[in-house]
Formats: sequence, structure tokens, C-alpha cells
Amino acid sequence: MKKYAFGVDIGGTTCKIGFFDTNGTLLDKWEIKTNTENNGESILSDVAKAVDNKLAQEAISKDDVQGIGIGVPGPVDSQGVVHRCVNLGWGVFNIERAFSDSFHGVPCKAGNDANVAALGEYFKGGGRGYSDMLMVTLGTGVGGGVILDGRIVAGATGGAGEIGHMPVAPGNTEVCNCGKSDCLELVASATGIVREAKKAMKNTDIPTPLRDMVDITAKDVIDLAKTGDKLALSVMDIMGDALARAIANVACTVNMEAVVIGGGVSKAGAFLLDFIEEKFKKVVFRPCGNVKFIMAELGNDGGIYGAAALVLG
Ligand code: ZN
Repeated sequence: MKKYAFGVDIGGTTCKIGFFDTNGTLLDKWEIKTNTENNGESILSDVAKAVDNKLAQEAISKDDVQGIGIGVPGPVDSQGVVHRCVNLGWGVFNIERAFSDSFHGVPCKAGNDANVAALGEYFKGGGRGYSDMLMVTLGTGVGGGVILDGRIVAGATGGAGEIGHMPVAPGNTEVCNCGKSDCLELVASATGIVREAKKAMKNTDIPTPLRDMVDITAKDVIDLAKTGDKLALSVMDIMGDALARAIANVACTVNMEAVVIGGGVSKAGAFLLDFIEEKFKKVVFRPCGNVKFIMAELGNDGGIYGAAALVLG
């Protein structure tokens, strides 16, 4: 019986590393800097070194490590092949093999970071008990991850679950960083909410305290919507309609039991969940409409939990 596992969440500026027992209990976590120089060629060996140091410090043999899971900010297919990670400088390669080779042959499993965070919520967070679920992360962008039968759906080139780029917001003039202008992310991310609020202030005379604020945030807009502010509510409508459509599309495709909502914007809490759920109920195909709306629980640790789950599940 192996006793330990590691979960690694590689980001553009830091790599978060979690040290777990094989029950999935987090024993320790820390971060190292992500070195993106020379196309990120030292990232994996830096992580391997950090894990090695931890083993030495705890006087643990590598033979007691069940495996190392890694979340990557780019598409990863089910064979462990990374299909380019632009912000790390990585091209196409098998990360599972590469890491395992650089780390004494200890098994390694990898996934896209948003998908891995979804797995984390299923493993130890808000999605516990729902083996068919969708996670939606509302942050600077919109991320997504689909879990079916308790496993990540990665797709042919690792792009499954990218609901931020679902074409559910037609008629936008902004261009998404993917090149399209109808993406969910354009209206449902924190950035999108602020942009829509500014647009609404410019295009209407509706009075709102937002007009007197200097740097408005998505939180300001949602907080005002909670008080019944008309303009803020109109922005929430745009966001909620697009999000409800996207979730309904996923429901029709995979018929999940639950949707777990996370990311900075989700701090708006029950108000936001209820708002989206009400809109979802109106547009979903009824037989697929019995979906629980749940708040994510793991915050920024979702990635390391999910990465550990890749090798413990
Ligand atoms: Zn897009």
C-alpha cells in the first residue's frame, strides 16, 4: 500500500504543490515560482526538485508515493499529451511520460487545469457525491470542466469543457482572446460584467450609484443588483441569460446531476446561484433539467485536490 500522493497546479506565475495522504487529506501545500524562460523547459524539473526536497524533508521513500497529478493551463488529452500551453511556452508533448521520466518512474497523470479543478470539487468539494457534474469557474475568464462517471471528459485534443467559449452571446462587438465575438466569457466573466456595466451606463440614462464609482468591479455590480438596482440587474440579466443557456446546452449533452459554480464572481453566493438557476429552468430541455446548483468549496486549492485525485481516483 502506497501512503502518499502529490497534486500540482501549474500556473503562469506559480506552481502550487499539495502533499496528500492516499485518502486525499491535504497534509501540506506550498508554491514555487513558474520559470517560463526558454519555453518553460525547466518547469517540470523544478517541480520534481520541489517534490524530491519534500520527500527528503519528511524522510519518505519515493516507493511510498502512489503518483503525481498535474493540472496544466492548456488542453491535455486523455493520453497525457499537452496540446500547446501558450503562457508557459510549451508545444505538443506527453507530459505524463516526461514527468515520470524526470521523477524516478513514479506514475504521473495530467489534465487541463479547469477540468482538474472540476475533479477536485467532485473529489473533496461542493460536487461530492455527484459523479456526473459540470463545474463553471467565473473569474477573469470563464472556465469549465465536465465530470462523467467520476472522471474528467477531456476530448480528442483536450478541449472538452471549455464552456467559456460557447457561442451563447451573439451580437457582441468585443473580440474574445480566442478570436470570436460571441463567447460566454465576454459577458459572464468578471471582466465581461464590468464591460457590460460600462456599456449600459454609456447607452442609457438609468440612474445607478455605479456612475459615481471610480473603478467598478464585478462585485460592485452584483452587490447593487442584490439591492434591486435597475442597471446592475440589466447587466446581471445579460450574464445570467448567457450562462443559463450554456449550462442548459451542457445539460442536454451530458445530462449532469449538478453544476458547481466557483471563481471570484461566485463569492456573490446564494443570490447568484438562485439567479442563474431560475434562468436555467426556463431554457433547459425539461428531461435534463433536474440539476442541483452548488457553490464550489475548495477555492484556489481545487486544482491541487483535483490533481491528486487524478492519481488517487
Ligand atoms: Zn472565446
